[in-house]
Order: sequence, then C-alpha cells, then structure tokens
Amino acid sequence: MPHTTREIQTLDSAHYIHPFTDHKALAAQGARVIAKADGVYVWDSEGKQIFDGMSGLWCVNVGYGRQELVDAASRQMSTLPYYNSFFKTTNVPAAELADRIVGLAGDNFSHVFYSSSGSESNDTNVRMVRHYWASLGQPERKVIISRKNAYHGSTMCGASLGGMSGMHAQGGLPIPDIVHIEQPYHFALAPAKDRDAFGLEAASWLEEKILAVGPEKVAAFIGEPVQGAGGVIIPPKTYWPEIQRICDKYGILLISDEVICGFGRLGTWFGSELMGAKPDLMTFAKGVTSGYIPLGGVVVSKRVADVLINKGGEFNHGYTYSGHPVACAVALANIDIIEKEGLVQRVKEETGPHLAAHFAALSDHPLVAGAETCGMVGGLVLMQDKNRHLSFDEALEVGMICREHCFANGLVMRAVGDRMIIAPPLSCTKADIDEMMKRVRICLDATLADVRTRGWMGAEESVQASAGMA
Ligand SMILES: *Cc1c(COP(=O)(O)O)cnc(C)c1O
Repeated sequence: MPHTTREIQTLDSAHYIHPFTDHKALAAQGARVIAKADGVYVWDSEGKQIFDGMSGLWCVNVGYGRQELVDAASRQMSTLPYYNSFFKTTNVPAAELADRIVGLAGDNFSHVFYSSSGSESNDTNVRMVRHYWASLGQPERKVIISRKNAYHGSTMCGASLGGMSGMHAQGGLPIPDIVHIEQPYHFALAPAKDRDAFGLEAASWLEEKILAVGPEKVAAFIGEPVQGAGGVIIPPKTYWPEIQRICDKYGILLISDEVICGFGRLGTWFGSELMGAKPDLMTFAKGVTSGYIPLGGVVVSKRVADVLINKGGEFNHGYTYSGHPVACAVALANIDIIEKEGLVQRVKEETGPHLAAHFAALSDHPLVAGAETCGMVGGLVLMQDKNRHLSFDEALEVGMICREHCFANGLVMRAVGDRMIIAPPLSCTKADIDEMMKRVRICLDATLADVRTRGWMGAEESVQASAGMA
C-alpha cells in the first residue's frame, strides 16, 4: 500500500523511538524519509536527490546499489541463512572471512572474533583484555584508558569507553575501571603550538594517567586512529607512534577502534597502519559490509590469541549472531569489490589527495577555519572570526543551521557543534568529489548569508572591509 510522506511521518512519530533524537523536535518537524539510494546519492520520499557526504553513518564504503552484495546475501540465504558458531561449529563464510581479514590486517594478527556491531565489539574487547590479563595471573589489570570526545558505541560498555559527556550524563556512566584522558585536538586545545610538539604532549597524558592509576592496574588503551563522531579529529603525526611507545613501555595492550577507519577509509586497509601504531586488538564494523547488513568484530593479535587459546580455557562470551553466515558472505563480496576496484589505493593516491586539495581551498571562505582531511574523511570549523580564532556562541547552533542548508541544497554533511564533517563513499570518483564540493560551497555561502543577516559576523565584516581597502 503506497503511503504519502505525511502518513509515514505520522506512523513514525507515533511508534518509532529513534536513536540519538530529540523526539519533541522530531514530532514537530516530521522525519525525513529516505526511500532509495544508488551510487553516492540517496533520494527522499518526495523524490529529492541528496549527495550522501557521510556514506550513511560512515559505512557505505563501496556506495549504494551494488548488485554483487545483494546476490551474495541471496545465495547465502538460500544455502544456509543461519547457523551459530557456539559448541564447536562453524560455517563456510565465517571461516573464509576470518582468514581474509587476518590477511588484510597484517603479520601481527592471527584471529577474528565476530559480533554484529561496533558497540558489541568494544564490549568484547573489554571482556577479552580482562580475561587475557587474568589468564596471565594479573587479574588486577582491569582499567581501560580511553579519551574524551571518543566514540566507541552506545552499549553500557561502549558508551563508557567513549568520552561523550552527553552520553555519560544519562544512565550512570561510565561503568567502573574506565578512565579518560584529553583528546589530541590541536586546533581547539593548542592552535598556537607547534602541531608535532602538541602531538607528543597529548600522548604524554597517557603516561601521566598510567602512573596515576598504577601501571600494574592498567589493562589497555583504546583510541580511534582518527576520531569520527567526535568531529573528524585528525591527530598530529607524532601522536600514535608515541602512544605505541608508552603502551610498550608499560606492557599494556593497545586497542585500535577501526570501526570507521578500517576497510580503506584513510587510504590504508586499517587506520593504525597509516598512523604508525601496532595494535593488539582492532575493532571493526561499518565498512566491513559497507553497511548492507550488520557485522562487526575484533581482529586479535598473535600475542592475545596465544594466551586466550593456550591459557584462557573457555572464553564465556559470544553472540547469537557471531559469525552470521549471510553477514560474512556479504563482507566477502564487499572486500572483493574493494580489491577489484582498487579503492584503498585510489583513496591514497587519487581521490584522497583530490579531496584534500578542495578542502585546503576552502580556507578562502570567510566562515571556514581549520579545514583538513585524511583519506576520505574531512572536517572544518565554522568561525565567527577566524583571524582571531573566535568561535560562535554555542547556543547559536551555527553548525545545525549549516546542516539544514546542506539538506536543503542536496547534501548530507554532519554537524558536531560548529565542526562540519564529511566521509563520502570510497567509490567516489573525482567528478563525484567535485560535485560534492560544489554543494559544500553553496551550503557554506547560504550559511554565511544567514549568519550575516542575523548580525553574527560583526568582527569578520570589519576585517573584510579593511582587506577591501588595502
Ligand atoms: C560507529 C562506531 C562504533 C559503534 O558501532 P555500532 O555498530 O553503532 O555499535 C564504535 N566505534 C566507532 C569508532 C564508531 O564510529
């Protein structure tokens, strides 16, 4: 039965509690109904075409409309739609995919544990590292160190690992034995300082925290190579090697949350490779299936796997859908596409640099400060007076205003405060990126016109006037 947009919105707000949504605001406005997708575009129920500058939620790495993924799912559903991996059983795609992922992850790794999401995978990480230390006779090593403004998911454990104050404010989080250090956000925390020196300083906060907690109590450090939901925070290049050195010094495990950075997003198969770290565990989800079906997991290093297998006994942990055959079959087909089309290499050598050049050019825009990219993620800051590093008042929600202009002009760009961020599909061509950036410019101009009309750009106008006179 065909529905009008209005009818769907009515059903939706009457019965559907959305994730991360203010429901009073949603009910007043009505949800945007996305009806179909192809390539780098989605269409809403009114037929409006929108460039998906966020790959859904950072996951549709190979773009929409890939028949190969549909066929892989359909074939697997006909053969074996489900069976579990408990009690010494397995299935063909789960075993094949584990081999494939370990091969991509590199020499350090030997095994994969499966879940259905990034959140569950990070819960697995915490249970696994604590079990690892207990198996080595050090059960007091329980503390996980994470970072403010990190995102590691929305389960009790995922949200505790994350450093989102809004999430911690609800439901009594974080859970015990998870502590946080400041993030390596150069532009916000120390813009005047040398970037590389700041990277070393930010890493030194980990050592400070290890010493404060007591090194014998610390189990692991977790971080995203590039912080995603926190606003595409790209660390200085000195940061991760120093984090690695500190983890090694105290023997603590390093967990790289690769849910966004994994499967090519930064122009390497995993982000830690680019950042110069050698993690003991890597969380994956999102891009592993390009979001066509839920799948997540943890890539486990030889160091950890050897202990789990030889000393750990039974690991009392698992999910009904661990190693789901259909999800694993889709992941295999997805990796086939990434390899066949050379998407990782393309991001590194062609589309990533192209996007970076466009972003660098945005610095001529009166609103834009700190525009930077890494592979196929990018972020910029909307500022009232960038020459004086003057932000807008948070309460003005200029980022939200910009996001609305984006939707109105056929572009999904996400707002994190006044940081505007993008993460387009890795399948983007240079022409796709040109089209996206044309829309980015239109949206920034519309936002600028809007904030000027509201009289929020006072300082910038005088700078412009004097520049015009010179
Ligand atoms: C999205 C995300 C998660 C959570 O994944 P879900 O599948 O939503 O549970 C965890 N870590 C990072 C870095 C993410 O971006």
